[in-house]
Amino acid sequence: MTQTPLASRRHFLRGRISDSDTLRPPWSINESLFVDQCRRCNDCIEQCETGLLVSGSGGFPEADYDKGYCTFCEQCVDACDHKALILTDTPWRQLPEITDKCLASNKVFCRSCQESCEVEAISFQLKPGGIAQPQLDNDLCTGCGECITDCPVQALTMKQS
Ligand code: SF4
Ligand code: SF4
Ligand code: SF4
Repeated sequence: MTQTPLASRRHFLRGRISDSDTLRPPWSINESLFVDQCRRCNDCIEQCETGLLVSGSGGFPEADYDKGYCTFCEQCVDACDHKALILTDTPWRQLPEITDKCLASNKVFCRSCQESCEVEAISFQLKPGGIAQPQLDNDLCTGCGECITDCPVQALTMKQS
């Protein structure tokens, strides 16, 4: 099938603008379709009430959890006139990972992530002779990233699941 010059350029760029770690806005369509549909207009970014969405590699929108978290307000979807974001039952498949920077794993008391999680996806398990450690319930977690925002030592990172 013959491609238009614009589509050809997008396919050429695709390898450089995304990889398996690229976190798109919620309700983004499949990545290969996304880079075809998205016009890099920034409308979703401008509507994001928390600042989570930023212009990333190639000018395509990405979710940057250093900037904010997601309230699932759907404003980004409403703003997208190019069908790159489409409402479904599952906004995305990504989960926070707790790294060894976590204060609790370094024997310092902290429960900030548990306190910030509205759906109670983080609980603490007491380990023999130590301080209780955070554990994530993957089924409850929405991938909102509020725990990342509230962690005092940036011990959490969001990963595709
Ligand atoms: S749903 Fe709302 S908070 Fe989440 S990325 Fe979209 S505009 Fe931002
Ligand atoms: S908020 Fe951060 S440092 Fe504190 S327990 Fe959670 S992951 Fe660890
Ligand atoms: S990403 Fe959101 S839902 Fe998941 S553990 Fe963190 S605060 Fe809770």
